Amino acid sequence: MSTLWLGRNWIAGTWVESTSGERLERLNPADHSDLLGSARLSTRAEMREAIAAARRALPGWRATPAPRRGEFLFAWKRLLDAKKEELARLITREEGKTLAEAAGEIQRGLNIVEYIAGEARRLSGETLPSELPSNFIYTLRQPLGVVGLITPWNFPAAIPLWKLAPALVCGNTVVWKPSELTPFSSQFLAQTLAEAGLPAGVVNLVHGKGEEAGDELVSHPDVAALSFTGSNAAGTAIYAKAAAQLKKVQCEMGGKNAVVVLEDADLELAAGHIISGAFGSSGQRCTATSRLIVVEAAADRLLRMLLERVQLLKIGNGADAGVQVGPMVSEAQFQRVISYLSIGQREARLCCGGQPYRENGCAKGWFIAPTIFDQVPAEARIAQEEIFGPVLPVLRVPDFEAALETANQVRFGLAGSIFTRDVNRAFAAAERFECGMLHINSPTVGGEAHVPFGGIKATGVGERETGSTAIDFYSELKVVYVDYTGQKRTGSLY
Ligand code: NAD
Repeated sequence: MSTLWLGRNWIAGTWVESTSGERLERLNPADHSDLLGSARLSTRAEMREAIAAARRALPGWRATPAPRRGEFLFAWKRLLDAKKEELARLITREEGKTLAEAAGEIQRGLNIVEYIAGEARRLSGETLPSELPSNFIYTLRQPLGVVGLITPWNFPAAIPLWKLAPALVCGNTVVWKPSELTPFSSQFLAQTLAEAGLPAGVVNLVHGKGEEAGDELVSHPDVAALSFTGSNAAGTAIYAKAAAQLKKVQCEMGGKNAVVVLEDADLELAAGHIISGAFGSSGQRCTATSRLIVVEAAADRLLRMLLERVQLLKIGNGADAGVQVGPMVSEAQFQRVISYLSIGQREARLCCGGQPYRENGCAKGWFIAPTIFDQVPAEARIAQEEIFGPVLPVLRVPDFEAALETANQVRFGLAGSIFTRDVNRAFAAAERFECGMLHINSPTVGGEAHVPFGGIKATGVGERETGSTAIDFYSELKVVYVDYTGQKRTGSLY
């Protein structure tokens, strides 16, 4: 029997239990008889304490030379490397994804920490010539101040890592409010920061509800910037509130990511990638393949291939060897997907799945059978709204032009993918697909550490995460004009 977790906040370098009366309990999504532990949902006053601690720690961290901050990140990465299997097991138990998926997201996070740690020696500005003699101009990067990080449950390691690393390397101090659904993976990560020797108050972790502790972080005047990843409903409210205080904001939100398959595509290749994109992580990825747009000439063949492959998927507890599809993260998420299954049955033709999955020891978890709907109209709710579960709507179109038009006919714009052997149409799609990240002959999911990540339209506002753009978000550019003439300037100044 595993020991129970007790959720604690990490404020000013000390682990403290919240005094709030409200408590959450976290059950293993694959097996409700397995209780992970409980965490109290912090009050606004506790969030204010964390913000004050981050403010106090700011002068010291800001004054630490950037390469020294980078050295801390390298040390942190080494520690995380040694603990990654333990963390992967915890993520699987708390979030439900398979061990391989958990290990994959941790590795991606570690690659990002390593890349960003190297950036510590490159936090450079530029020097510019002046229009005036004996003058020159330079730019320098400075921290923003106290930064608020608000993270979702579906990547409890990768997303916090890709926000924490650039925030720290740029000299900011942090208050982090993780998801209520993954308190213990978040606490595990914060503990590694403590063990790696981060000075007190540089990062503060506060468990709590979005509308209370999270809202306090968004509203507090001492928080200079916010980086949010999560749903559109929360992100829209946060963006508006933060804008009213002129805070720097980055919100990465939902997606409705299309795979387009043309008649000349390698259908075997496409089918394999569509299955992993749609049903990997049980469809609970922001970049999950959530629409298949296929030209009529290839549709029947491709659908047959998909149905054959779906039957082979092994559904179960992500901790068990060979499992490919885990459960939904929570009962609320399970009910939400179930409601879309009934909507889908009214809007389109159900080809497989369409119900909870209770076989092979899955009766004690929030499992949904991988589901495919065919003949889905472009305006159907299941083709327009983010379901965030193992559900693939198939939309048939006459040709390439109609495929692109349909792909762009949603409010989101995160990831997209096209399968074709025609280089001209591949490049035309790269230009016209309305998304932040397009994959050619590969799935909608995935991304590399040194590459910007994020979406357009209703998916994303603010700079992209990861890659060099992460440094742009977490730093302020200052321009310095230097006049070494020692003389009063004559003529007009403009
Ligand atoms: P969510 O919006 O419910 O919660 C995300 C975080 O915001 C949590 O920590 C929550 O407590 C907090 N929060 C909620 N309301 C708040 C408020 N009013 N003020 C301050 N904080 C608040 O999202 P979720 O269910 O945790 O995550 C799933 C969503 O995240 C999906 O829509 C998915 O597409 C999206 N997502 C997007 C990306 C991306 O990069 N585009 C990546 C991962 C997940």
